[in-house]
Amino acid sequence: MARYIFVAGGVMSGIGKGVAVASIGRILKSKGFRATAVKIDPYINVDAGTMNPIEHGEIFVTDDGDECDQDVGNYERFLDEDLSRVNYMTTGRVYETVVHRERNLEYGGRCVEVVPDIPNEVISRINKAAKETKADFVLIEIGGTVGEYQNLLFLEAARMLRLQKPKDVVFILVTYLPIPEMIGEMKTKPTQTAVRLLNEAGIQPDIILGRSRVPLDEPRKRKISVFCNVAKENVISAPDIESIYEIPVNFEKENLGSRILKKFGMKTRKHNLKDWQRLVKTIKTAKKPVKIGMVGKYFETGKFTLADSYISVIEAIKHAAWFYKRKPEIYWLGAEDYEKDPKKLKELKKYDGIIVPGGFGSRGVEGKIKAIEFCRKQKIPYLGLCLGMQLAVVEFARNVCKLKGANSTEFVPDCKYPVIDVMPEQKNLLKEKKYGGTMRLGAYKCQIRPKTASFRVYGRSNVSERHRHRYELNNEFRETLRAKGMVMAGTNPEKDLVEIIEIPKHPFFVATQFHPEFKSRPLRPHPLFREFIRVATTRR
Ligand code: GLN
Repeated sequence: MARYIFVAGGVMSGIGKGVAVASIGRILKSKGFRATAVKIDPYINVDAGTMNPIEHGEIFVTDDGDECDQDVGNYERFLDEDLSRVNYMTTGRVYETVVHRERNLEYGGRCVEVVPDIPNEVISRINKAAKETKADFVLIEIGGTVGEYQNLLFLEAARMLRLQKPKDVVFILVTYLPIPEMIGEMKTKPTQTAVRLLNEAGIQPDIILGRSRVPLDEPRKRKISVFCNVAKENVISAPDIESIYEIPVNFEKENLGSRILKKFGMKTRKHNLKDWQRLVKTIKTAKKPVKIGMVGKYFETGKFTLADSYISVIEAIKHAAWFYKRKPEIYWLGAEDYEKDPKKLKELKKYDGIIVPGGFGSRGVEGKIKAIEFCRKQKIPYLGLCLGMQLAVVEFARNVCKLKGANSTEFVPDCKYPVIDVMPEQKNLLKEKKYGGTMRLGAYKCQIRPKTASFRVYGRSNVSERHRHRYELNNEFRETLRAKGMVMAGTNPEKDLVEIIEIPKHPFFVATQFHPEFKSRPLRPHPLFREFIRVATTRR
């Protein structure tokens, strides 16, 4: 029988609720339990696939092809487990099911109501996740902040589940304690207000995680305890730290795992976070940098969202760098600059390796192609991810195969040499405007050719990797590309699609149609990222 831990946020968003959930999962796992996590997003979108990553952050993809919130990526990285569709839900998804069921007369002719039918569907989805993952603990992260209209029905579901199983539900509130500059003191009032709002929804938190710039002191803990009706030892200090991977270790310094078990009336257990602690030590002590440049389009919203839009790529670089005890330094390079001023390309030499990550739309594409050409000719280690592979093919077609006007039909639909083209079944979907959840999504097999760099790093010929794209290397040009030296190092056996290309006689030039970053884990870096970083570290 599963136990349920609901996690909601108070005061404001962006305080690391997702990472807190992932960290609690890691702690419980390290105590020998099976833990899983479910992310609830309160918006109407059925999945995250239709949202702009610049505003909303990366769209993470699971093995079974769900396009979900980046928090699911954090769960996978911390739990070191592959999650699936059951680990993610949105208001849109919940309503879609209920409406569908109503249309099929499955409610037996009765009036279908928002309460309790919507929360009941939420509960049934949570139970499905518990059952499919066989988890001892299901962590449920309620997106947004308490007091918002949008997540009320999910709080209602939490309240109802606690009513049904009072001993099996624990409620955690993650809140923020500001230290206003003019006062210079940590203030608890916003947290008190957040707890009131939660009380209004019929929920009393069992544990409060107090996020803040510095650790919470005793008087602050006491105050929160008295005003928020939570035992003092269940007010946990969660100060800002350098690396998110330190959070499980920090939580355990405050015995969070035992506090949770105690709330469930369970005996405490020792954790084993040794490998995790070792990782944290590396993160803190690695001094020698490895400098990776990511070439993309400029985002007006600044650095913060940039990191959010490519969080899995950034984390994958870090995992691999730490594996080699290096300090990852990641630089964002605006592709449009190389279009305006090709002389600027020289700056690429400053980096140990260059990545062109996934992307959509034509802005900056020509600059990325120029950067790839520079990496190919100057022998700078290059890793292309999805769009980064497609553009490597366009570059090679134009400059090595001399197919002037080669392009992807995503950018020039009637280009002379469509070396990257949309698949036939995708064409109809686009014509019918069926955009949501219709890309080539999730895990597909990839067969790797012996004697390639990819074969050497994977160490086997059959792998499975995750996808999110509509366009493919056009098989009509495969022979032309191969004749000039491009190696089709990996292909999908079912549909004979090119999955990996390599350029030999280069320290490292590998590009993939899939997204290896989705499968990189802090303690198990992805083989392609690992090798890319290894070669990068040998550059100087
Ligand atoms: N825009 C390209 C496609 O749809 C690449 C997608 C990506 O990089 N994820 O195929």
